[in-house]
Amino acid sequence: MIAEPQPPSAIFHRSLTKTYPTATTGQGVYITQSDGSKILDGSCGAAVSCLGHGHQAVIEAITEQARQLSFAHTSFFTSDPAEELASLLIKSSDGRFSTCMFLSSGSEAVESALKIARQYHLSKGEPRRTNFIARRSAYHGNTLGALSAGFNPSRREAFEPMLSPAFHHVSPCFFSRDAIDGEDEDEYTDRLMREYEDKFLALGPETVAAVIIETVGGATLGAVPGLPKYLSSLLELCDRHGALLIYDEVMCGMGRVGTLHAWQALGGTPPDLQTIRKGLAAGYQPLSGILIGSKVHDAIREIQATLPFVSGHTYQGHPLACAAALAVQKTIVRDDLLSKVRRMGGLLSQRLRDSTPCLKEVRGMGLFLAVEFSTQPGAHMASDVAATCMKNGLAVYLCSSAVDAVLFAPPFIITEAEVDQLVSIFLTSVEEVLQDLR
Ligand code: PLP
Repeated sequence: MIAEPQPPSAIFHRSLTKTYPTATTGQGVYITQSDGSKILDGSCGAAVSCLGHGHQAVIEAITEQARQLSFAHTSFFTSDPAEELASLLIKSSDGRFSTCMFLSSGSEAVESALKIARQYHLSKGEPRRTNFIARRSAYHGNTLGALSAGFNPSRREAFEPMLSPAFHHVSPCFFSRDAIDGEDEDEYTDRLMREYEDKFLALGPETVAAVIIETVGGATLGAVPGLPKYLSSLLELCDRHGALLIYDEVMCGMGRVGTLHAWQALGGTPPDLQTIRKGLAAGYQPLSGILIGSKVHDAIREIQATLPFVSGHTYQGHPLACAAALAVQKTIVRDDLLSKVRRMGGLLSQRLRDSTPCLKEVRGMGLFLAVEFSTQPGAHMASDVAATCMKNGLAVYLCSSAVDAVLFAPPFIITEAEVDQLVSIFLTSVEEVLQDLR
């Protein structure tokens, strides 16, 4: 079918051929479009709007902060909301981090975490540690450094060669798909650790700055949780080789899986550095962060006078963004929303498991769940399902073409009735797609 010609938009949209509906208002789990129709925000965009839309406490915090102070450049000043937010995050992280840096996007946070890792090794007198080990199928952001760290072929292809040869990749951790010959979780983990070990040895362990992983794989493969032994073994291996471990919790962190940090639900092994982002300010303001452990912070601080950390962004530590995040995080604690994430996540995952046709797997944790379909080899129905859901009033996130899957990440405030509505629209949409395939 030939698409109707559309009037050109002044925006360089994500797709230059698609026409986007206009979102006009948002309340609770719903976004209203300009034609008055409502969309249930089943994935919070990309796991962002964890308090839903129109949350009064957050709106008031932003308004009040705007009255007091909207911006003060961090080369000159700190601000109360940034200081308070950093203290709150550090206090609620089991004493695993000692400082926090605030930026704007997840890609910026990843880029800065990589630079902090390099700075750590410079501070320790090891300038040759310039290599990074990451995983195939990971997504760490769209700027060229973060894109080099990740390995989502469809996002990288057009921009090859990457700017930096410093990134080296190993297998993802995807037990339910990749375990072979009846391997159990421990045997599978041991095999992946041997692969890391071989990569360290091939590069020369003294050249490796850090390993970076998503604690729970998100956008590319769809809600693939790490294994507790995998995380503890990887930290041990990094420590043994003098490299840092970075968790990228841009998508899976800040309560999305039912604990503040995803690693707390996966055996409790903390990293040296951790990126946070989407649920941090819940979409009310653009804010990301890096949580920094004392080993890294102390080493950099110790020789700061002779080797300053020369890196910064104009909007980093933005007072309005920090005020919004502070209100979001206080609300999550006050309303005990992490328990709700676990409860509603259990309910949603059970309903999806019980009734989805052509189901290969429901995977994930808390309210971070993927449904992967089992169709003919080579067939791909997830993109049609996501489009049909949208037509029927439900937004779900389409994973990469590496898997035939969609991702659910609804607001933490979702009610049981709204879970029912979500599942009902989803199942109707899957049926419609299957009808078309028959
Ligand atoms: N890291 C992970 C794990 C992500 O999922 C994303 C975005 O989806 C990013 C980094 C990049 O974040 P941003 O889009 O805010 O730059």
